[in-house]
Amino acid sequence: MRPQMSVPETYEVVVGLEVHAQLQTFSKLFCGDSIAFGAEPNTHVSPITLAHPGTLPKMNRKAIEYAIRMGIACHCGIEKQNYFARKNYFYPDLPKGYQISQHTTPICKGGSVRIKTAAGERHIRLNRIHLEEDAGKSLHDLDPENTSIDYNRAGTPLIEIVTEPDIRSADEAFAYVGEIRKLVRYLEICDGNMEEGSLRCDANISVRKKGDPVLGTRVEVKNLNSIRNVKRAIEFEAQRLIGLLESGETIVQQTRSFDADKGTTFPIRDKEDADDYRYFADPDLTPFNLDESFIENIRSAVPALPEERIQVYITEYELPEYDAQVLTEERELADYFELLVKSLIDLAPKDISKGNYKAAANWLLGPVKSWMNEKDAVIADFPLEPKAIASLIQLVDSGKVSFSVASTRLFNWLLEHPTADAERAAQDQQLIQQSDTSVLEPVIDKVLIKYADKVKEYKKGKKGLLSLFVGEVMKQSRGQADPKMTNEILLKKLNN
Ligand code: ADP
Ligand code: MG
Repeated sequence: MRPQMSVPETYEVVVGLEVHAQLQTFSKLFCGDSIAFGAEPNTHVSPITLAHPGTLPKMNRKAIEYAIRMGIACHCGIEKQNYFARKNYFYPDLPKGYQISQHTTPICKGGSVRIKTAAGERHIRLNRIHLEEDAGKSLHDLDPENTSIDYNRAGTPLIEIVTEPDIRSADEAFAYVGEIRKLVRYLEICDGNMEEGSLRCDANISVRKKGDPVLGTRVEVKNLNSIRNVKRAIEFEAQRLIGLLESGETIVQQTRSFDADKGTTFPIRDKEDADDYRYFADPDLTPFNLDESFIENIRSAVPALPEERIQVYITEYELPEYDAQVLTEERELADYFELLVKSLIDLAPKDISKGNYKAAANWLLGPVKSWMNEKDAVIADFPLEPKAIASLIQLVDSGKVSFSVASTRLFNWLLEHPTADAERAAQDQQLIQQSDTSVLEPVIDKVLIKYADKVKEYKKGKKGLLSLFVGEVMKQSRGQADPKMTNEILLKKLNN
């Protein structure tokens, strides 16, 4: 990998991102064809997708709902009066010869997305979120002589989320796309899978001298297919543009593409300022007006989002910010955590403590995450119910089982027997710690008699011998002595 170069102090990088998200509807934006990924080429292509003469598009209500969900999550204003326009251009993957898109009336306007980087917290303003249909796909590697076309994707509903030129570094862009991916997944409107192209990003990049009020001429890097590549492309472009300015050259507005192998970009076309797409309202689709209750119904169904959950975890459960961040990375994990907290409260409503919340976080970020990593699985695949983890936490909390035994032997056994009762299993396998003083004391007395010489040395000041006594008690009790209790009793006896 090329060494990362930093931007010279005197320059500022300015980035605006356009993110396309494929909506997880059942069917296409204007017809009933499936949008499922990975089907045989040209099997989801009715005459409407192929734009045969005489066909008529019909709007997908779910797509509108999903776009509004995203708008609400990003604090946008929702436009009540909408229409679709035709954006005319010729391209082989565009069967109609125009794309149906929202032109001057994006369904969501303004708004912002909160990001966090090492440089601190910022709110990136959005320009708009609009609805449009996707194009088909050109396949250049199927046939050595020809380009093949797969129209399955044509007509898939997209939202395009466009920022103001507010992003100031590659790291901020990285954080922003990560945040967008998290949001669309929480909202269940897009799977956020960048490798399969469900989330795609174009980066508009310019540089200027710090303090200059005017924006520099931008280049647009198209179709970045991973969050890491967004960052790499911006890092490369910033250096290239600064290099051009430093050597006195003028920057021309350009569309470029990213070569992920080399980590560089190359030009694909010079962009004139006014592309003439001959926009006009699509005469086959009537304008659509949204009423307040339609929007409010959607608003009330938006789940608690990461930002809100992080707040609760930090203030109510007193978790460290790091734990709160990681737990909310995926909605399913956050949901699991919340169910776990609920189970803990159900198990012992009076004894619940801040320590229990931290223990819940530790179990998920420790043993459960390790299990997921090892199996390359997600929390939905995890065999144990939150209440099983809650009983493990309780066993540890009450001193019946040590954390190390609970998180290894008992946990592993439960994974194989997910419906078993944790405490019962601990008893059957003799994993319950001995914390009954009347049982522990005789064992400890025996050890102190056995090591009478060492006890004398201890009393003369060789305090390090304590661990020898503890170890011996553990051995005599076949690992079942509660180490904390053992320590306490030993100290009492030795210091007498
Ligand atoms: P277009 O429709 O030609 O792509 P827009 O004006 O809609 O152009 O802008 C697209 C994106 O480019 C937006 O995210 C915007 O913030 C960003 N942008 C515009 N000008 C600049 C600039 N000079 N430097 C960086 N980003 C910019
Ligand atoms: Mg653009």
